[in-house]
Amino acid sequence: MRTFEEDVAIAEKYHGHLCSGQCIGVKMARLGMRELDIDIQNDPKSIMVYVECDRCPADAIGAVCGCKVGKRTYKFHDFGKVAASFINLRTGKAVRIWRKKRMHPAEGEDMISFYKNLPDEEMFQVQQVEIDLKPWDMPGPPLEVVNCSRCGEDVTDGRHVMVEEQPVCKACLGQRYYKVVADGKP
Ligand SMILES: [Zn+2]
Ligand SMILES: [Zn+2]
Repeated sequence: MRTFEEDVAIAEKYHGHLCSGQCIGVKMARLGMRELDIDIQNDPKSIMVYVECDRCPADAIGAVCGCKVGKRTYKFHDFGKVAASFINLRTGKAVRIWRKKRMHPAEGEDMISFYKNLPDEEMFQVQQVEIDLKPWDMPGPPLEVVNCSRCGEDVTDGRHVMVEEQPVCKACLGQRYYKVVADGKP
């Protein structure tokens, strides 16, 4: 098993700098994998994560668990929380871990050893959770592709909604985060 320091180095390299968020994310990832008996080095495809923030710990969790958005093993939910769920894909068991207390090293204290030695239970709350993973949430090729009846763009894996028996994408349902100001030539 990798050491805490080795995991911090992996996270730092991926994230681009060392910060408390990397140490916190590494701690969460290690705790999650320990709770679920995941041996990431021998069975790297056994884990999926759901991450609830888009800040520093989000990168550390992905780097340490080897989970990637493009591999469908990293699900992002923008809840603005230092929280994440970890699923053992072999057993279906899942835990959610959230930070209950902000804790930082004292001035001049070594950051990595501070977080390494901090008992997990002081900083985190662990919950046993159930996550309803659908076949179309799993890694692998798309199981379904539909064409949005309003904008004409393809939508994969059940991310559309049927409206009057026609498939409609989330953007056309009012969840559009952008405004088209000019369209290129078709
Ligand atoms: Zn950072
Ligand atoms: Zn559409």
